[in-house]
Amino acid sequence: MHVAIVGGGIGGLSTALYLHQQGIDCRVYESVPEYKPLGVGINLFPHAMRRLFELGLEDAVREVGVEAKEFTFFNQHGQLIYREPCGRHAGYDWPHFSFHRADLHRVLLDAVMARLGPDAVHNGHRCSGFSQDDQGVTLQLDTATTSHAVRADVVIACDGFHSAVRRQLYPEEAPAHFGGINLWRGVTRGQPFLSGASVTRCGALRHGKLVVYPIRNHADGTQTINWAVEILKSDWSENDWNKTGQLSDFIDYFSNRCFPWLDIPRLFREAEFILEYPMVDRDPIPRWSFGRVTLLGDAAHPMYPRGGNGGAQSILDAELLASLLANCDDPVQALQAYEAERRPKTRDIVLTNRSTPPDAIIERVDALTASQPFARIEDVISLTELQGMSELYKQVTSMDRAAVNVVHH
Ligand SMILES: Cc1cc2nc3c(=O)[nH]c(=O)nc-3n(C[C@H](O)[C@H](O)[C@H](O)COP(=O)(O)OP(=O)(O)OC[C@H]3O[C@@H](n4cnc5c(N)ncnc54)[C@H](O)[C@@H]3O)c2cc1C
Repeated sequence: MHVAIVGGGIGGLSTALYLHQQGIDCRVYESVPEYKPLGVGINLFPHAMRRLFELGLEDAVREVGVEAKEFTFFNQHGQLIYREPCGRHAGYDWPHFSFHRADLHRVLLDAVMARLGPDAVHNGHRCSGFSQDDQGVTLQLDTATTSHAVRADVVIACDGFHSAVRRQLYPEEAPAHFGGINLWRGVTRGQPFLSGASVTRCGALRHGKLVVYPIRNHADGTQTINWAVEILKSDWSENDWNKTGQLSDFIDYFSNRCFPWLDIPRLFREAEFILEYPMVDRDPIPRWSFGRVTLLGDAAHPMYPRGGNGGAQSILDAELLASLLANCDDPVQALQAYEAERRPKTRDIVLTNRSTPPDAIIERVDALTASQPFARIEDVISLTELQGMSELYKQVTSMDRAAVNVVHH
């Protein structure tokens, strides 16, 4: 069997690694002529880290990432609402890591090159469409100078939010679903804050929300710190990961947030760059697999980036799909079985990221305190309720401890 993978992001490269592990021949066709580092952070929780370790990437990821110790939630006054350990510190058999996105991508790409050979990834090949018959799929690929066709037994579309394959399958689909929130993101080199490995959220949305965590440790004791600001907004422009943002668009929301645990305005002022991105996803679709063609990762289930799960879920998709393709006589049936298991699960995550993402904890406390500082958090909300909100999100995303660890034992 030969599989053509469209798109060489986290989903496409993970799929290549899993197919190779199952002994299935594959190639990745990636539109960009050359990968350029995109300097923002990404968290992978134990459910995804387990997969990376099982793929034999433990040493490589340890070299580039920061192992997180805890989640912390603060209100906009800088008061601690809730703290809980994460990864191994919370009893998981696998850690939680925070990465520079380019570092994680490099680890996956190096592994693909080393295991599948230098020809496995064809850069500068943009898929513009496909056709299929009973025997296989013909993929149309455009390079800078030519257009040509390649034939494969199966096509897995991992071409992200703006997937060309999805567009061909759903030509009438709306451009995107905007959540009324805009994000500004950046990285700043500075001294560690809190535990030096804390994934921290600060402030309810209507006051301006911050998510901040370290993604690289440096020899001089400093860290590269990734941050993302979320602010309510009524209009939005096309989502492009490389769109430059302005400090003046959001700094006023944070001007009084210089806390003993972090000087937030300074973090923003000293940023190496600022990008902006609208909070967008797409409505879940009724079908991913069409004959010998299926969707994976953001092409299948683009979700709001607020629970640290889009990339993780693409790795989970890849693991299951490769194993089904290896163990099923008919690839069409394998693609259907993959969809039957993964589509309902990821649909629930897309909808939960809209309604009750992890930062619902901060929103709840903001409502209970009418946005005022509190004297004692235990007089506002019980620890049991806070833990319950945190657990609920983990269960929807298959990252509760019992579910992650059980596979291992
Ligand atoms: C601000 C932000 C923060 C996030 N934080 C997290 C996080 O903490 N944890 C987490 O797990 N996820 C996170 N995500 C989500 C995660 O980044 C995505 O879910 C993940 O990148 C999806 O991987 P993918 O391979 O499906 O798509 P992509 O990463 O988008 O990769 C798609 C690839 O396909 C290529 N391509 C596109 N069109 C074509 C074409 N026609 N032909 C060939 N190639 C094509 C693209 O160039 C690209 O390389 C975040 C997202 C955002 C926006």
